[in-house]
Amino acid sequence: MSGPTPRPEVFSIAPYVGGESALPGVAQVIKLSSNEGAFGPPPGALKALAQSGAGLHRYPDGAMLALRQAIGAQFGLDPARIVCGNGSDELLVLLIQAYGGPDTELIMSAHGFSIYEIAGKLAGCTICKAPERDLTTDVDAMLGLVTPRTRMVFLANPNNPTGTLLTHTEMLRLRAGLPQSVLLVVDAAYSEYVTHAEYDAGVALVDAGENTVMTRTFSKIFGLGGARLGWAYAPLPIVEVLNRMRPPFNVSSTAAAAGIAALAEPGWLEHGRAHNAQARARLALLLAQAGLKIHASEANFILVDFATPARAQAADAFLRTRGIIVRNVKSYGLPECLRVTIGTDEQCSLVAQALGDFVHG
Ligand SMILES: *Cc1c(COP(=O)(O)O)cnc(C)c1O
Repeated sequence: MSGPTPRPEVFSIAPYVGGESALPGVAQVIKLSSNEGAFGPPPGALKALAQSGAGLHRYPDGAMLALRQAIGAQFGLDPARIVCGNGSDELLVLLIQAYGGPDTELIMSAHGFSIYEIAGKLAGCTICKAPERDLTTDVDAMLGLVTPRTRMVFLANPNNPTGTLLTHTEMLRLRAGLPQSVLLVVDAAYSEYVTHAEYDAGVALVDAGENTVMTRTFSKIFGLGGARLGWAYAPLPIVEVLNRMRPPFNVSSTAAAAGIAALAEPGWLEHGRAHNAQARARLALLLAQAGLKIHASEANFILVDFATPARAQAADAFLRTRGIIVRNVKSYGLPECLRVTIGTDEQCSLVAQALGDFVHG
């Protein structure tokens, strides 16, 4: 055989597998496998999407000025320091391509988000995983992995799939312990859900220096995962790097229109956060009452610990008989756990009922 051969890194990774969305023979599945917001897309975003159709023959504004201004106004940030992406995944990949590469090391926590490892290996980086404490990132373990080859540290805060977070104090300690030349990427995909008092999504760290980037997404609380829209807040030199690296029209005009409208949807963010906090607490309580072990979460999902991989697999299969799809997290090294997205109150009740029935045989 003498066909084209890709770079060897390509075969060093397994393709990313997203949450499943269909069950054979089930018309109405309850999809709680991808942490999509509980309420579908914001109504205003759907309207804006329809209206943007009339301009579909035009290229989008490659600079995404209107979207960056809307994001800046919503979160109190300078639009000049925002870069938009085709999902935040694209920005994570671009950062790794820009700052990683062969002979460099990328540090992440043991159960950190899988894209860092996939994109890192693809770029030729060596991935260094720091052990965690109670499924929480251990700052000292991360700092202990730093070598002269370290270029990047990736941290989801709160983390997916564990749901745990680092306080602002711990984040400051992490940044202070890293060399100035190491890029810290704070992936704050779930930041809008956080109610913890000692949390900062990453803005303060970005503002404090030249070496920290925060990424955010429209895929979770804003309910626009299908539109593919994310953004980064970064020091200007890193903004300039991303603007060189990204494809010129990486965000579609329809995604931008939907994103601007989602930000303007009255009460959307507040309602989503408030619902999530109460629904997550209620689901955790119901599952604990059923005798299941729950890991504390600050995000829009909870990690349920079934003690053994076999029992987690059996619970997964049982949920499917009720039309409920959750996420097995075997690929994260957590085969005894299932990750359950917080849906509507009704969906949470159905999950609690089903898992209660599973436990009681
Ligand atoms: C869902 C998620 C993202 C979002 O990715 P998009 O490409 O913006 O949809 C990023 N990081 C983490 C940790 C996530 O769970």
